[in-house]
Amino acid sequence: MEGLRKDKVVKSGTFLLNGQLILFLLFLVNFLGCKKEEEVFYPESDRSIQITDDIVIDNGVKLTKPIFNYSYYDNFLSYLSASDHFLIVSLKDFKNTTSEDKVVLSLRYDIDENINAAVKLAYREHKYGIKSTYFVLHTATYYGQKIGPCFKRNDNIIFYLKKLQDDFGHEIGFHNDLVTLQLMYEIPPKEYLKNELAYLRENNIHIWGTTYHGSQYCYIYKYYNAYFWKEYPDNGWNYEYITKGYKTLKIEKDSLKTYNFTYEGGLLNEDYFFADCFFIDGKRWNMSMVNLDTIKPGKKVIILLHPANWD
Ligand SMILES: [Zn+2]
Repeated sequence: MEGLRKDKVVKSGTFLLNGQLILFLLFLVNFLGCKKEEEVFYPESDRSIQITDDIVIDNGVKLTKPIFNYSYYDNFLSYLSASDHFLIVSLKDFKNTTSEDKVVLSLRYDIDENINAAVKLAYREHKYGIKSTYFVLHTATYYGQKIGPCFKRNDNIIFYLKKLQDDFGHEIGFHNDLVTLQLMYEIPPKEYLKNELAYLRENNIHIWGTTYHGSQYCYIYKYYNAYFWKEYPDNGWNYEYITKGYKTLKIEKDSLKTYNFTYEGGLLNEDYFFADCFFIDGKRWNMSMVNLDTIKPGKKVIILLHPANWD
């Protein structure tokens, strides 16, 4: 009997131990697995931004990152618009704008993969009357996808670009991934570019300029997409030929003028170039790292930002 009772006690003790263990494990799973709901704030009266009847962008702000969020950016825009130290122009006017008593400043956005984030930044700039330039990436998933040997465009892209250009007053530019197109997609880049520009311009998207995209493939195969342009100098890496596996490709090149581009964003001879793709002491560059008030009047500045970093 004793033995049995003892056995029972031990068993119920084991049960208790198991029960506590299960409770503890449940707590642990809850603690680790259940991420705290991300809080979204709506500081704007427009809680959403309408692109079409079917496409609506949530205009909420997440404050998960201390600097890279829309509220911090809003404060930066507020500072820029209230200051008389800056003459803010879109990139198409950058080269021909000079000033004796102001810093000439252009805000450049390479939209890359996140067009919703671009719309949210553009909305905030519009609020402060700031005009800037947004470069649409033709190899991004929102723009289209490769099907077989062809590239199928997503025609909804035009509504986003019209929102940026017509409703918010910004310039639209072409973010060039053309060497990637030739190398990775095996799509003839000259014909492709001609067609895409025709499509955009026929739809009243006024494209003046282009900037080059730093695709992941650029780092693997060592090329700049800027090398599509005859005007772009050899900046190291593979200027003429790229070797991919057993194939060697001659980079197709053409002139900016052929496509009625008036500028390439890397050839604007600015005095200062800041970009949130640069890292300083391991930290992503942001405007808290520079006092723009200390830049002397007459100087010319470009700030390049990637909207996805601010989302
Ligand atoms: Zn890019």
